[in-house]
Amino acid sequence: PQGATVQKFAELLGVAPNDVIKRLFMLGQVLTLTQSMSDDLIELISDDMGRKVRVVNPEEEYAVVYNDSEEDLKPRPPVVTVMGHVDHGKTSLLDAIRETGVAEREAGGITQAIGASVVDLNGRQVTFIDTPGHEAFTAMRARGASITDVVVLVVAADDGVMPQTVEAINHAKAADVPIVVAVNKIDKPGATPDRVRQELTEYGIIPEEWGGKNMFVDVSAKKRLHIDDLLETILLQADVLELKANPNADASGYVIESKLDKGRGPVATVLVARGTLHPGDTVVAGTSYGRVRALIDPRGEHRDEAYPADPVEILGLNSVATAGDEFRVFEDERDARKLAEERALRKRLKQQEASHMSLDDLFNRIE
Ligand code: GDP
Ligand code: MG
Repeated sequence: PQGATVQKFAELLGVAPNDVIKRLFMLGQVLTLTQSMSDDLIELISDDMGRKVRVVNPEEEYAVVYNDSEEDLKPRPPVVTVMGHVDHGKTSLLDAIRETGVAEREAGGITQAIGASVVDLNGRQVTFIDTPGHEAFTAMRARGASITDVVVLVVAADDGVMPQTVEAINHAKAADVPIVVAVNKIDKPGATPDRVRQELTEYGIIPEEWGGKNMFVDVSAKKRLHIDDLLETILLQADVLELKANPNADASGYVIESKLDKGRGPVATVLVARGTLHPGDTVVAGTSYGRVRALIDPRGEHRDEAYPADPVEILGLNSVATAGDEFRVFEDERDARKLAEERALRKRLKQQEASHMSLDDLFNRIE
């Protein structure tokens, strides 16, 4: 009970409020029923009354353990991240994929730049996450979470394995995510896709046709060659993973992008990992909170619901969230507000501490 009032404290312990006030008085603390007790006082008085109370921080207080039973879990679409060395064709490949996949539902469909997109292949959804700088990816990995189920590693057939190729491999391996290799630019005269395969074996990435575990597809993003093969391969890889989530729960997931929009205010793109998100839901995302005013999908359409593996923009948060932050729906708006504000406060305190330290450092250096 962090910052509990005397009344609340007595209630939680099941003791008479007057008894608490008396004991506080004997410690030289004059408090009324509605005043808050500090954490230290809470522990002292509890001890005094022969009770062991541990004051938890807000993260613990609101910690949840998701315990879904087997029948709650339903199949969900895969979430895919395209990675690779600069100029090997990540953006071109995503464009080609969007065109190929989106065309069925919406000819020439224009996807918005919200950091994620959704593609339809024969009625099956694949969610793609753009990772400029892999910001959210890295933040979540530090927390042991992962938003992506499959990494598509793009390697240019005329250039081969390069430093950022290796970086991407390390990311995927650390997150324990399977790698599908897209050998790109096979239309180019100098393309040697087999050399790429050879080079990748040094990093433990071995094609299935060579007895390894990785699926390879030779593509040309520019000439739109074998893009549908690549999508089918991604779905094959996803099938192996048997991805599931509980859609019938309060939503939770991760912020993958966030910005301040001139007209719309703070906008967070989130990926739903569990549950179903609705307009009107109260959400906490890192140090931000608010009631969801609108949900907007990558096609720019308003949605009444967002399911596991759906990326959506959330409008209605009170501040700009941070990529990689967790988001969660709260039943009680006051709880949401409390958690967000306590997090914000502690963040400010930490920053202050840090700036004081650097001032000290500065003085030390001057002396
Ligand atoms: P990124 O930095 O990985 O996002 O790479 P881009 O998608 O921006 O592509 C880098 C350059 O490679 C651009 O000039 C593309 O037109 C070109 N490119 C991408 N894919 C192909 C391809 O399949 N064939 C050829 N010939 N060029 C490509
Ligand atoms: Mg790019």
